[in-house]
Amino acid sequence: MNIVLLGAPGAGKGTQAAFIKERYGLAHISTGDIFRANIKGGTPIGKVAKSYIDAGKLVPDEVTCELVKDRLLNGELGAGFMLDGFPRNIFQAKELDTFAKVDLCVNIDVDKSLLMDRICGRRMCSCGATYHVSTLDGATTCAKCGKPLYRRDDDNPETVEARLNTYAAQTAPLVDYYAAQGKLCTVNGGAGSPEQVFAAIAAELDKYVK
Ligand code: ADP
Ligand code: ZN
Repeated sequence: MNIVLLGAPGAGKGTQAAFIKERYGLAHISTGDIFRANIKGGTPIGKVAKSYIDAGKLVPDEVTCELVKDRLLNGELGAGFMLDGFPRNIFQAKELDTFAKVDLCVNIDVDKSLLMDRICGRRMCSCGATYHVSTLDGATTCAKCGKPLYRRDDDNPETVEARLNTYAAQTAPLVDYYAAQGKLCTVNGGAGSPEQVFAAIAAELDKYVK
């Protein structure tokens, strides 16, 4: 089973990806994570990506598509792949269709009014855990592994505003793209706990795995 996770910044793609990976054994491929690892490592791709990411814009398609294609064709895939953050515009979706087969697009729908607070209050751990300041009760370290929490560089109000605009203009049209192919399922990511959102996603994915 190969799936695409779709959703605005702050919709909870990363959180749901961790649940899905654990239950279904899909390889989690996050272009955002790949870019951040490249920036940290000071690679040529990281140098190109940084200016776009800091501005809340999309990294150029040539760079992104090559990276995903290489990962899908040459990397470990487990029971299939789960793309998180790709495709992010129609061009990328069409490119993807030339080198891989997508079975399902899971669209995590969250009202725009919730997104700004979710992202700006988000705190991360290098182990992959994410938190929101409202539930941290002042804690500055990870409850799972004890390492210090940090805020992503692009999780500041100005960049978030730009990321939400980029999403609306370029990524949201993918909802119709996958609906037209009969591959779209939409879950409400704005009501209920992460576990409840996952239950809704699992109900859909269970239709595809025996
Ligand atoms: P979020 O979904 O919370 O905005 P991501 O970690 O998915 O965060 O992406 C962070 C940034 O990385 C994006 O704002 C964009 O600049 C870049 N990026 C990630 N995926 C892509 C992609 N498929 N195409 C172009 N740029 C991307
Ligand atoms: Zn941790």
